[in-house]
Amino acid sequence: MAGKPPPDVSALMPLPALAGAAPEYAVNQTPSFPDLNLFVSNPALGAAAAGLPVQDRVDLDMLGAQWGSAEFFELGRLANEHVPRLQTHDARGARIDFVEFHPAWHRLMQAGMAGGLHNLKWTGGSHLARCIRLYMAYQAEAGHVCPLTMTHAALAALQACPDIAGPWRERICSSAYDPSFRPWWEKSAVTLGMGMTERQGGTDVRANMSEAVAAGDHYLISGHKWFMSAPMCDGFLVLAQARAGLTCFLLPRFCPDGSLNGLHFQRLKNKLGNRSNASGEVEFHDAYGERIGEEGRGIRTIINMVQLTRMDCIAASAGLMRLGLASAVHHARHRSVFQRLLIDQPLMRATLADMALEVEAATALALRLAQSFDRSPQDPLEAVYARLMTPAIKYHVCKSAPALLYEAMECHGGSGYVEDLPLARAYREAPVNAIWEGSGNVVALDILRAAQSQPDETASLIAGLADRCSGDVRGTLQATAQETLALLRGGEAQTHARLIAERLAKMAAIAALDQLHSDLAALYCDRRIRGPVASTFGAHAGGRQAGPASQSTESKLLERAHACALVPA
Ligand SMILES: Cc1cc2nc3c(=O)[nH]c(=O)nc-3n(C[C@H](O)[C@H](O)[C@H](O)COP(=O)(O)OP(=O)(O)OC[C@H]3O[C@@H](n4cnc5c(N)ncnc54)[C@H](O)[C@@H]3O)c2cc1C
Repeated sequence: MAGKPPPDVSALMPLPALAGAAPEYAVNQTPSFPDLNLFVSNPALGAAAAGLPVQDRVDLDMLGAQWGSAEFFELGRLANEHVPRLQTHDARGARIDFVEFHPAWHRLMQAGMAGGLHNLKWTGGSHLARCIRLYMAYQAEAGHVCPLTMTHAALAALQACPDIAGPWRERICSSAYDPSFRPWWEKSAVTLGMGMTERQGGTDVRANMSEAVAAGDHYLISGHKWFMSAPMCDGFLVLAQARAGLTCFLLPRFCPDGSLNGLHFQRLKNKLGNRSNASGEVEFHDAYGERIGEEGRGIRTIINMVQLTRMDCIAASAGLMRLGLASAVHHARHRSVFQRLLIDQPLMRATLADMALEVEAATALALRLAQSFDRSPQDPLEAVYARLMTPAIKYHVCKSAPALLYEAMECHGGSGYVEDLPLARAYREAPVNAIWEGSGNVVALDILRAAQSQPDETASLIAGLADRCSGDVRGTLQATAQETLALLRGGEAQTHARLIAERLAKMAAIAALDQLHSDLAALYCDRRIRGPVASTFGAHAGGRQAGPASQSTESKLLERAHACALVPA
């Protein structure tokens, strides 16, 4: 299959415009979601980007308009309607293991790579600028972000072996998209995937059975992976058992002699969401592999990827939540029920404002975490924040997204449940970020590991979250910090790991919100910590939470949410 011509990724035909929709169809119907600038329309992103170099902000503005355009949402729809197809063999019966994608997928990949989702950090950009880009791109289409996030993260692991990493790095740093199915060294740009999960154990990678046998300067890998996404990547970081134990290997799609490597894709998973992206089951038949890092140190090598991919799961989930909110607010501004616009009805306002509060918190958490990644090399306390909070925030934000998107869907009534709008797709997409890169319990338990390895730093970090807050929020958080530390130190910490994760993330959200909007922080504290905590959006209790102060905060939240529907591209 080497040399197969790349698919045409030039202009795709846009949907034909309807020449003046018949008026009876337009009555009380929400107009199509307009072209949006996903950057300009989101005050939280603008505030976070204020400290970035001017060029970053110019780029974010341009990318926000691109990813928020109706054209890109249509590309997203097409890429998910026309799902990838695996061709295992050619007409003569020879293995080709080629996955065919719709041109819309290639356009999205082209834009994602031009937008630096895979390389911004490696070409001098910051985690924060990349986080904002990913947050926006995910709203247009989620699936194509998978290979780009893996490529970004893989370089962190590859660097354990600078000789091997060098020539790959050059091609990862390219912002071109080269979808041709050829050996990586003949290509101008590459993408990388990873394979850890096997049938008998995903989380417990020590149970991996794939074997690696040394063969001169390389290894031959036999075995399988039960999940290996983005099969058209040019290489994969894979864990396999070598003589000294679990080891990380780089498996390119082509061997150094130009022949196809022994990666036999068995089938593509039939998934709930993330359908534009191919996720394969694969067998390795004496596949050529190069060792990355020491034998027996595979987990340590590949773990460098995991923090990065978890960060992306958080940014992605927060972006998806913003899309749900934007769409719900847009609908509520146009749809009348009982002769009154939904946005003017008290119960819908309360529901939307409470959703907006959750989106503000998720967004603040993603941005704050990205900043901690940027600051970690110079600031040890920020490194502790990044280590401890990545699993806690992943737990909380990725689990919040499905509930938020469900509610956003319901705000649209029946139309939300229909595939014509992007809501149903976003809802089906949402759970995967909580499952892959460490499922809920796994990341919750990871917090305990992080806390055990740095107990004093953890204690001062948790106390510091409270101490930096203003007003009476500080008192509530100080009490929560004490309780959380007691749980962390107690004999039942494993049993309480979910509670610890949730509390840490909520405290971090309040601390992050408090920096810019103490009123939002206070409302979040009231509704999500001080309690009674409602189990659905808009079902908060009376008293303090229903007073005039909270009403004005709700109005502010709706205004900030409105911005997404008001600012033109
Ligand atoms: C769409 C999709 C694409 C994927 N792509 C890739 C890919 O490209 N590469 C790759 O390597 N993998 C990939 N995966 C696999 C994914 O990373 C794993 O499914 C995930 O890590 C969980 O592993 P598992 O399925 O084996 O579940 P298990 O490890 O069997 O876990 C099952 C459940 O048990 C919980 N659990 C585990 N340990 C404990 C414990 N000690 N205490 C309490 N609860 C626990 C987990 O949280 C989970 O809820 C993909 C998955 C999906 C859905």
